[in-house]
Amino acid sequence: MKVGIVGTGMVGSAAAYALGLRGVASEVVLVDLDSALAEAHALDIAHAMPFASGTSIAHGGYDRLRDAGVVIIAAGVAQRSGETRTDLLSRNAAVFRVVVGDIMRVCPDAILIIASNPVDIMTQVASAYSGLPNHRVIGSGTILDTARFRSLLGAHLRVSPRSVHAYVLGEHGDSQVLAWSGARAGTVPIDRLGAQIGAPITESIRAEIDSKTRNAAYTIIKGKGSTYYGIGAGLARIVAAIRQNEQAVLSVSSVTALVEGVRNVALSVPRVVGREGISTELLPDLDAKERAGLQRSASLLRGLFESVSL
Ligand code: ADP
Repeated sequence: MKVGIVGTGMVGSAAAYALGLRGVASEVVLVDLDSALAEAHALDIAHAMPFASGTSIAHGGYDRLRDAGVVIIAAGVAQRSGETRTDLLSRNAAVFRVVVGDIMRVCPDAILIIASNPVDIMTQVASAYSGLPNHRVIGSGTILDTARFRSLLGAHLRVSPRSVHAYVLGEHGDSQVLAWSGARAGTVPIDRLGAQIGAPITESIRAEIDSKTRNAAYTIIKGKGSTYYGIGAGLARIVAAIRQNEQAVLSVSSVTALVEGVRNVALSVPRVVGREGISTELLPDLDAKERAGLQRSASLLRGLFESVSL
């Protein structure tokens, strides 16, 4: 499968590198307003392929995206230190009008994966501009927050994060909701396992894991300007689920008809992802506090989306 990436800054190029290392795509095509940048990343990543996979890495204009099965959009302006994701909104919506239109002219059958921030709003903007059904426009959403949450829980419980089943819901941003009440290691509630191994999940452990999950991006941005390896790998994970028609459960963003009383809002819940995009959603059982948090996150996102002039 050919995978296009529009916007080959830090996130787009990290996604291309992760796709190549995993060998998920037969061809990855990089497109950027800055064609010299796209070419440079394509060459650099292509030179890693003999050590990794048979993926061919190309660059070019939008016409090179013809027949792509998936196009990742990572175009836009980067989040700056101290800037909230929502501050990026108006700048990135203008970029999307052009980018989505150009992609749809060349490959109207592609599934779109959105990585640009604020990702939930940009997913809804891309759904609107593309005219695609909502299940074919997938935002990276909280896929990375969920991975961070699982890693921290796994480290505390001394269990592989892959065997920890826990999700971050709602906004990829400050209002996100860590769904503690349904978190499991294997099939065992995390509190029970914590008590069993002498590592109880106390209020202070919860607060620490919550803060490290929620604030990870700020810590990384403070240290090196932006985040990209983690999200690049997360984007490759979504593409793999589509390519292999996995029906994998991933916490990704998509325009959702109804969440906690809020209509037509893009946010993350666990969703089943395969060849046709998203087939269904699996909203976990939540306690009252988590439900209220998800309601707040959904209302905030819906309000923000309404503030965008399309
Ligand atoms: P991030 O850290 O989110 O990847 P960057 O600023 O590194 O942010 O990358 C964003 C990329 O998006 C830049 O390379 C920029 O040239 C590209 N870009 C911006 N506008 C467009 C556009 N209209 N079409 C294609 N690429 C674009």
